[in-house]
Amino acid sequence: MDKFAMIIFGASGDLTKRKLMPALYSLFRDKRLTGEFTILGVGRTVYTDESYRSYILEELQRFVKPEEQDMELMTLFVTHLFYLPMDPAEAEGYSLLRQRLIELTDDINPNNLLFYLATPPSLYGVVPLHLKEAGLNTSESRIIVEKPFGYDLESARELNRIYASVFDEHQIYRIDHFLGKETAQNVLAFRFANGIFEPLWNRNYIDYVEVTAVENLGIEQRGGFYETAGALRDMVQNHLIQLVALTAMEPPAIFNADNFRNEVVKVYESLTPLNEIDLNEHIVRGQYTASGNKKGYREEKGVAPDSRTETYIAMKLGISNWRWSGVPFYIRTGKQMPTKVTEIVVHFRETPHQMFRCSGGNCPRANKLILRLQPNEGIVLKIGMKVPGAGFEVRQVTMDFSYADLGGVPGGDAYARLIDDCIQGDATLFTRSDAVEASWRFFDPVLRFWSDTPNAPLYGYPAGTWGPLESEAMMREHGAEWTNPCKN
Ligand code: NAP
Repeated sequence: MDKFAMIIFGASGDLTKRKLMPALYSLFRDKRLTGEFTILGVGRTVYTDESYRSYILEELQRFVKPEEQDMELMTLFVTHLFYLPMDPAEAEGYSLLRQRLIELTDDINPNNLLFYLATPPSLYGVVPLHLKEAGLNTSESRIIVEKPFGYDLESARELNRIYASVFDEHQIYRIDHFLGKETAQNVLAFRFANGIFEPLWNRNYIDYVEVTAVENLGIEQRGGFYETAGALRDMVQNHLIQLVALTAMEPPAIFNADNFRNEVVKVYESLTPLNEIDLNEHIVRGQYTASGNKKGYREEKGVAPDSRTETYIAMKLGISNWRWSGVPFYIRTGKQMPTKVTEIVVHFRETPHQMFRCSGGNCPRANKLILRLQPNEGIVLKIGMKVPGAGFEVRQVTMDFSYADLGGVPGGDAYARLIDDCIQGDATLFTRSDAVEASWRFFDPVLRFWSDTPNAPLYGYPAGTWGPLESEAMMREHGAEWTNPCKN
């Protein structure tokens, strides 16, 4: 690789120490970052190059998995780090930044420049404009922007306008680490590298689909942030909808960034728009309440005592196209659930006629396919089998593939994969401007309805449970029920 320089805005922050530096170290260890490379951290906190290196070396020992730590390599890695104290919100610092870059990189090809915005979202619209004023937006430089990209449709459009005035779309990498996960990418491989499932993957054979991404923690110390976000902005508008797209999209003829992202956008644009009636019928919004020794959301630090921010959301989505018309996609996310799990469950239609007796309520009339993204990454197919012995009693059993059998999901985390892709100029797993807007366009009516209707239902659920009972009722109408991993 030619000389390469990465400038991290927000280099003193949580994301940098927890994710970015361990990811960059892992690329270095795997010889994906070779030759002369420079990582220049930027922030208001004052560090010298030396003190920043010591700080990151310490954090690497906290955040890199112990089995991947090699003190000699980590010490070598941090010699590539530099730091410039400056306020990224203020224009003045950018001429210094330019000067420091020239000093550090000497005859760098200016196109091997990567900017990473790991600041609070309030700076996402400011930094690119300052980069432009300082002439740092060279024609092939790239910028990675963290989520959330916008707060609603209007703010996302405004950000897109700003970015388009500074960079071409192929230079903009809107990161969402969900798509960097091996198991998310495997949904595509599972569907499109096998001949047997895709012929069944449609309204003729599939009854309904569930997409679940829940966790057993509360909001931890992030009350201030969560109050301004809520589950819909934090999880649904980006992560869950991407999983819906991976499950529902058409196979691109040729797998590349544009074709893949075209198919994603088509799914978003096929989502059946929600009108006001649907909003009450198709959405269950919840907030966890105190239970046992677990605090309720409103008792958490930084949360208003009368907060109406949702920590749980379940939705019924429709996809209006030939493949999916009439097949509900039930999606849900929540904090303080009984377990942490992300999975897609595809329920096939029942057999038209059941000839056999079933045992113990375990009636295998419908096959079920579970794509589990985490934990216990793997794929499970539920099928009916004859119970050995006399008669023809049938019971549901599982056919299992577990990543553990392949030695587990590779250690390299989603950030390493995505940063590497960006360095290589591969934008497949990053969100394009039209996808961001299509997603916000779909969810915007929900946000507006909640802000215009202060008494819109918000159901409490005790921390440590599977969320409001109303979400079970929403599915029962279709004869469906949630697949709760502890239960199934
Ligand atoms: P953070 O720690 O709150 O902020 C990062 C850095 O930004 C801070 O160290 C601070 O550095 C600088 N900063 C804060 N407020 C500023 C202001 N008003 N003006 C200028 N600089 C300011 O945030 P983070 O957790 O690292 O997250 C960074 C971004 O990544 C956020 O947008 C977040 O949504 C996103 N993200 C984070 C995670 C995660 O695991 N943390 C995961 C996914 C996405 P100085 O004080 O030194 O300037």
